[in-house]
Amino acid sequence: MKKLNRREFVQTTTAAGVAAAAGPATLFGQAPTVMTPKSVKPVVVSSANGNRYKNGGTKTCVETAFGLITSGSDVLDALIAGVNIVELDPEDSSVGYGGLPNADGVVQLDSCCMHGPKKRAGGVAEIEGVRTPSKVAQLVMDQTDHHLLVGKGAQDFARNMGFKIEDDLNTEKSRKAWLEWKRRTDPLHYLSPKDRDSAHHRVAMEMIADGWIDPEHYYGTINCDGISPKGEICGVTTTSGLSWKIPGRAGDSPILGAGLYVDGDVGAAGSTGRGEANLYNLCSFVIVDEMRRGAHPKDAALTALKRVAKNTIEKRLLNAKGQPNFGLNFYCLNAKGEYAGVAMYQSTYAVCTENGAQTVPMEALFEGRPTD
Ligand code: ASP
Repeated sequence: MKKLNRREFVQTTTAAGVAAAAGPATLFGQAPTVMTPKSVKPVVVSSANGNRYKNGGTKTCVETAFGLITSGSDVLDALIAGVNIVELDPEDSSVGYGGLPNADGVVQLDSCCMHGPKKRAGGVAEIEGVRTPSKVAQLVMDQTDHHLLVGKGAQDFARNMGFKIEDDLNTEKSRKAWLEWKRRTDPLHYLSPKDRDSAHHRVAMEMIADGWIDPEHYYGTINCDGISPKGEICGVTTTSGLSWKIPGRAGDSPILGAGLYVDGDVGAAGSTGRGEANLYNLCSFVIVDEMRRGAHPKDAALTALKRVAKNTIEKRLLNAKGQPNFGLNFYCLNAKGEYAGVAMYQSTYAVCTENGAQTVPMEALFEGRPTD
């Protein structure tokens, strides 16, 4: 085995120290991470909100995660510390505290995470009362034999793990936006499916135009993926899901293979956007599998988006050109440290490298923007 130079030795021992300080040992003792020094340039990619919100602090999600990774922290611990900033920031209405609630006015959150080197995963869906579902997802990974806990079970698990359960994760702003939505749709709410679709669509567009909803956050989520200098890859996705969803609806974000997929030997991919389209096509899994076959992250994600386009045949989901009339975005990186942000329609994403954090344009399958 190659001898470690001082820097690599310090990184390894620091990482071990951070892991030891992180809390109780896992139920299923992990073999120590094998040090295979590689010359990978570390990078963190995320949805654009990962380089926007600071929750009153000085650093964004990608800056925080990148700083921790390059100081030797476990990659997943670093990514989760990054997305926690967005989950806790009431200004991001698509994630965690202050995320737009479901049709009953209740904030229900979804999250999952994957640890490449440990080959472990965990997730929670429709959890209420916990601002940082990504942390609960990580505990599902570390402290249970399961991959997904939902609803009340997920909340009970969080309580048992020592989380404070709050009555309501709405902020004044998200509660008022929900009231406005309720007022505008219909007090009876359950219209015929056809009328409901068109009422929802019309009201969503009106509320965006009237400034009730950030256009970027009618859909919205944060996915964040990173690779360390040692080539360790992890990812996390966390969201309040589709605004005004039917209570109990889980989207793609907590589902392994859809909202996130990581293979520590190959790469990571995660998503934001229309969860139903992603769930039908399991795009994050497809993207990682394409990368396994040698595709660059950009081409891998374009393959997945083309599959979504081919499988979208319902008229209500298509624009006048027959293209999917919704946004769907992927953030991907491979084991070489190559990365890409690829979207159905033009958008931006966040990247942090040794040159600092940037918000940059994504590769788009189609020009323009969806009309809904
Ligand atoms: N993908 C998320 C969901 O469908 C929402 C989003 O990213 O906007 O729940």
